[in-house]
Amino acid sequence: MHEPTQHEIFDVAVVGAGPGGSTAAAALAASGAKVALIDKATFPRDKACGDMIGPRGVALLAELGVEVKAPKRVVGDMLLVGPTGGRMALPAESGDNYPGHGWLISRRDFDNTLVEHALSFGAESVTARMSHVEAHGRGYLLRLDNGRSLEAAAVVGADGATTQVGRNLGMVDEDASLYGFAVRAYVEESVPTPVISLFRDQGALFPGYGWIFADVEGRANFGVGVGVFSDRKRSSMATQALPRYLELLKRQGWISAKAEPAGRLGGWLKMGGLGVKPARGRALLVGDAAGMVNPLQGEGIHAAMDSGLAAARALIGAGDPAQVYLEHLRRTHLPFAHAASALQRIALGHPRLAETAMTLLTSRMTPAIVGSAWGLYWNDLLRGAGRIRGAGLARAMAAAVETITRGAPERQAWGQ
Ligand SMILES: Cc1cc2nc3c(=O)[nH]c(=O)nc-3n(C[C@H](O)[C@H](O)[C@H](O)COP(=O)(O)OP(=O)(O)OC[C@H]3O[C@@H](n4cnc5c(N)ncnc54)[C@H](O)[C@@H]3O)c2cc1C
Repeated sequence: MHEPTQHEIFDVAVVGAGPGGSTAAAALAASGAKVALIDKATFPRDKACGDMIGPRGVALLAELGVEVKAPKRVVGDMLLVGPTGGRMALPAESGDNYPGHGWLISRRDFDNTLVEHALSFGAESVTARMSHVEAHGRGYLLRLDNGRSLEAAAVVGADGATTQVGRNLGMVDEDASLYGFAVRAYVEESVPTPVISLFRDQGALFPGYGWIFADVEGRANFGVGVGVFSDRKRSSMATQALPRYLELLKRQGWISAKAEPAGRLGGWLKMGGLGVKPARGRALLVGDAAGMVNPLQGEGIHAAMDSGLAAARALIGAGDPAQVYLEHLRRTHLPFAHAASALQRIALGHPRLAETAMTLLTSRMTPAIVGSAWGLYWNDLLRGAGRIRGAGLARAMAAAVETITRGAPERQAWGQ
């Protein structure tokens, strides 16, 4: 670990060494920049997660040359289980720019691999909590909780959903943000197929979903995620629903009646890029700090890595970093993110409608191609889907969502 002197000067301070920060730090350090990679945790560290790296994430790791040696499980098709127990297969197929599979891997191992990758390029690890950042001269001054401070010409805020960087630099509006909260735990059971459950909880459609995924050590990772808009006091809904979801998994036979949960851990999801100004001067927010989580299914690792890389490239390259970075987000992430945010609001505001739609989707009468199309749409895999089965229908779904959500407040964000 790097021990900074009382006050040290860097080209870039990256706050947070999760997938977003480590990816940014690796690219910046590889370009020759002097980079501080600051995290309050000592790695390897655990992180609340379903432990799933989606196909785009697997493709990006290959592109970045990150060798992931830690044990992992390849995961392809998934099963969607509806509110009345109906099932719909969500098949995984290779697109033009991603493989037909994802990975299940512990975040302790995965995040540590990315940190090691960044350090191998010369990024300097600083283990301390950043307590404050402010604009200072032509750059930024960061205070750490160990009494030290850093100066940097640019800052990458990769410090997760509750971002201190974003709050200190006036880049987040919490009341306009779209939050979710998710809780995971493990059971010592093996599960043949990854399952996503849209289920009734206490007589009504749970305003989120549950999952159970096999992991690499004969365990299964299960959890629930709930959408709470900007009302963060409602996070306890997920924690309270977790034991009831476990009982449902037992009743449906996915795990045995004796399965005992362990390792419960929860965390915030910030979704759809709402309530966030991701770029201000030479301060750029990436990953969860920028609200990059998919509002429909909670995936955020690929978006964190991709936005981390884009932020690094914007800081390294010619042109105004803020403009270059925003242009990347507008082109790649935001069209889906804003439409999906609006769709999430409609679903949460009309639970009966959502339940009917989910029951139909998972009905035995529904043709399999609908599952292929929904899998592409909600996993944001349409870009590059090429001629995958269901891609045409998924494009029609995306167009329908565009029409339904036109004029929604989420679609006005970012002047879209
Ligand atoms: C229960 C749950 C399940 C999920 N399942 C999945 C899944 O299966 N697949 C998927 O793709 N996504 C999943 N997500 C989302 C995913 O975890 C995030 O999108 C992803 O971790 C974002 O990466 P990041 O680098 O932006 O932030 P993080 O991974 O949150 O990293 C932020 C880092 O910043 C550090 N930090 C925070 N504040 C400070 C500070 N002030 N000073 C110094 N360091 C600081 C933290 O210690 C942390 O290491 C899930 C989330 C939850 C909560």
